[in-house]
Amino acid sequence: MELPKKLLDLTDFFSRFPGVGDKTALRQTLFMSKWTPNELAEFGNCVKELASLKKCVMCGMFADDEKCSVCNSEERGEAKTLCVIETITDCLAIERSGFFRGRFHILGGVLNPLVGIGPEELGLDHLFERIKNDEIEEVILAVNPSVEGDATCSFIKDSIDSNLKVERIGFGVPMGGSLEYLDSLTISKALENRQKM
Ligand SMILES: [Zn+2]
Repeated sequence: MELPKKLLDLTDFFSRFPGVGDKTALRQTLFMSKWTPNELAEFGNCVKELASLKKCVMCGMFADDEKCSVCNSEERGEAKTLCVIETITDCLAIERSGFFRGRFHILGGVLNPLVGIGPEELGLDHLFERIKNDEIEEVILAVNPSVEGDATCSFIKDSIDSNLKVERIGFGVPMGGSLEYLDSLTISKALENRQKM
């Protein structure tokens, strides 16, 4: 039996999601087929809006306006502690832990010369400018532990004012691990037990 193309097309999109197989993808489509035309239109609209999603000009987090809610906030927008992370999902994981009240800087990756990712591709100049212009006093490197992550941290440490306090999170984060998959308590502990670089 062949299902209608409309169902197959949507299923194809669902099957592109991480961790979703063909069966699950079809189940989602069949579930949605019961929605009202209004619900489907709203869903379609939400998807369409993603195309105009903005990123904060300061930290790189998703934002409604030019700046994200952290950079815009009265309490944290002027914070002198900057947490440097690889990805937006890492940022969300740290926010979930509720432990950190400073500002973020999202690199979007780590240095990896083999695949052509150098300081320029990561926009490290923007990071160094921010540290200077925003009079950052403390830099926390919450970069995931890996060979490339370690090299990135060393590069950042060596490129900024040696009087700055630079620490790297350590305890509890396994080698090759990713913050995204850690529970809030492990992340709080890792932030608490950061080490001077
Ligand atoms: Zn921001």
